[in-house]
Amino acid sequence: MKKVLILGSTGSIGINTLNVIRNFPDTFRITALTINTKIDLLEAQINEFNPGTVVVKDEKLGMNLKKRIAGKCKVLVGEAGLIDAAANLDYDIFVGAMVGFCGLAPTLEAIKRGKIIALANKETLVVAGELITSLCRRYNAKIIPIDSEHSAIFQCLEGEKKDQVEKIILTASGGPFLHKSKASLASVTVKEALNHPNWKMGDKITIDSASMMNKGLEIIEAFWLFGVEKKKIEVVIHPQSIIHSMIQFVDGSIKAQLGLPDMKLPIQYALTYPERLTNNFPRLNLVKIGDLSFFSPDLEKFECLMLAYMALTSGGSAPCIMNAANEIAVNKFLNGKIKFSHIPKLISMALEKIENHRPLSIEAIFECDKETREFVIALS
Ligand code: MG
Repeated sequence: MKKVLILGSTGSIGINTLNVIRNFPDTFRITALTINTKIDLLEAQINEFNPGTVVVKDEKLGMNLKKRIAGKCKVLVGEAGLIDAAANLDYDIFVGAMVGFCGLAPTLEAIKRGKIIALANKETLVVAGELITSLCRRYNAKIIPIDSEHSAIFQCLEGEKKDQVEKIILTASGGPFLHKSKASLASVTVKEALNHPNWKMGDKITIDSASMMNKGLEIIEAFWLFGVEKKKIEVVIHPQSIIHSMIQFVDGSIKAQLGLPDMKLPIQYALTYPERLTNNFPRLNLVKIGDLSFFSPDLEKFECLMLAYMALTSGGSAPCIMNAANEIAVNKFLNGKIKFSHIPKLISMALEKIENHRPLSIEAIFECDKETREFVIALS
């Protein structure tokens, strides 16, 4: 039995992780579930999966839940509860399914214990890639990516030599605004931006997909996960989202991983790696799909993708600044405070204004994140 802790069990990845685990009751056991606020859904998950401990980040809601479930399991609360769970509970696999920067501190605790980190939370690698990869080496922790593109690359790399990779080709659907003009992006609504053609995901990542910042974050994530040179990571638009990414090797051969756009697949692979277990998920029917198409991304239209390339090239704390500015800008857009086309503008202003230094310590990263957030919150 593999013991699993899920950080963020009521979000889209968390729910899908439980959908996978439900199919393998003899293989996995849930040790702990952590959430921010959705205590009703957490209560249902407690009743079904019987974790020993749960953590609710919102302290008031956590106390509320504690009364409701009356001793069914241990309830911890707050940021301290998240860190306590990651640092002290008994588990084999840490599933990082939380959205945004807030997943960083508990993930570091799991790394320091040499756990298997099934990582969906790309922001942690974007802001602290250097620190995380060096800690993984020191404590012998292994990151297995859940992000579908990175899972594809990880699978394509099995049995291959890293120094024989010529380039990584990250595929991108292009999101809902693929065929819109740059000028028309100023007037798109929140509803239109949340309407992703292929994937059903949480709000933050769906907006990131519409702006293509999601792909920008994924370029940086790939850089830290696979340790290839920056210029060897390429993005190709593939609107059907069937090829989840590819690797081109030095002999010109390209390996790709294909599947339906369903997160259960990369999640299961991360949980069962290096094994593959039989499941009854729907199968990809290539004849039914018919055509697969590809083209280059428009970097003038998708300014966020361009900004991410620049942040990766600058290095240091630039990706951390970019990520914090993006989180605040996306929030402002979702709350109707700024236009969609202002998201890259706020990020550019933050990258210009906040000083770039090399963030080696966790304290420096938190400081940079905080400074950027305060700066962007004050912008209109
Ligand atoms: Mg992805």
